[in-house]
Amino acid sequence: MSLEGEAPFVMDDGPKGLLFDIKRNSSEDGPGIRTTLFFKGCPLSCSWCHNLEGLASRASLLFEVGRCRTERCGAPCLSRCESGCLMPGEVSIQVQHARCARCDACFSHCPSGALRPSGWWMEVDELLERVLIDAPFFLSSGGGVTCSGGEPTAQMAFLHLLLRGLKARGIHTALESCGHFDYDRFQHLILPYLDLIYFDLKLMDEAESRRHTGRSNRRILDNFIRLNQEATIPIRPRIPLIPGITDRRENLIQLGAFLRRHQVGNCSLLPYNPMSRDRGALFGSEIPGAGRVARYPSRGYMTAEEAQRCAELLFNARP
Ligand code: SF4
Ligand code: SF4
Repeated sequence: MSLEGEAPFVMDDGPKGLLFDIKRNSSEDGPGIRTTLFFKGCPLSCSWCHNLEGLASRASLLFEVGRCRTERCGAPCLSRCESGCLMPGEVSIQVQHARCARCDACFSHCPSGALRPSGWWMEVDELLERVLIDAPFFLSSGGGVTCSGGEPTAQMAFLHLLLRGLKARGIHTALESCGHFDYDRFQHLILPYLDLIYFDLKLMDEAESRRHTGRSNRRILDNFIRLNQEATIPIRPRIPLIPGITDRRENLIQLGAFLRRHQVGNCSLLPYNPMSRDRGALFGSEIPGAGRVARYPSRGYMTAEEAQRCAELLFNARP
């Protein structure tokens, strides 16, 4: 289903999963010691996104131009590529990301790591085997596995198999979600196998949501309301504080009113982190919404005073 005027977000949703990172020994993505799995593909394209690798819905190519020096290596990559995406240049090669077929022929021939893969397809048994190496730590620390991204629910069929396999082995499961998913499928395939959901809330105004995330917020807010009413597991809202976008006075006051209206007692604030700005160039223009991402101005970390002002508006100000 797509909302009026919006192109549906489509990516492969089958028994194999497309991930771009696996982070072990994480203590930030839920209780205890955890492994966090980063899924590729997201229906939103937020201008401040700090996981640009997660935005692309296919296995993609990273090229770090600062590491590439053709005179040093003799450019062995050029003869490996049959897709026409690597071309000679004066100091470094030139890359046309959109042509990459991810045949993976070039990576092992790049001595500097300037060319690198982003994302690989995995069978669920293969992923379970890797993750369950740490099962003793999960069980002794009250930890488990967190699915993040990108947006894990963009690969609902694979996510179902993964979560079902984890629950069958007694592993705690958490999901970090942008909230833009088909609720009926989610309720049937995903919810029964989750212990905890981190649910991002960003913008209360629909036009602002379209402008800054590429999507209406209607489905996100409806899904949050239904989950908050129906789910028997904790639903933890999180609000990324983005200067000039989500941290605006009107937005925070409306978000606070929304949470109170639905009797949500607490939520996490995620102050702006400028790390997102540095990796965009590695992906070329293949990222959906790359134009919007490129328009968000770079700035420093949000200060404690700025974050405190946001908390005051959210929790104490009234419309
Ligand atoms: S992965 Fe294959 S298609 Fe892509 S740049 Fe490397 S050799 Fe070319
Ligand atoms: S991408 Fe790697 S192999 Fe190709 S020219 Fe640059 S440094 Fe050499």
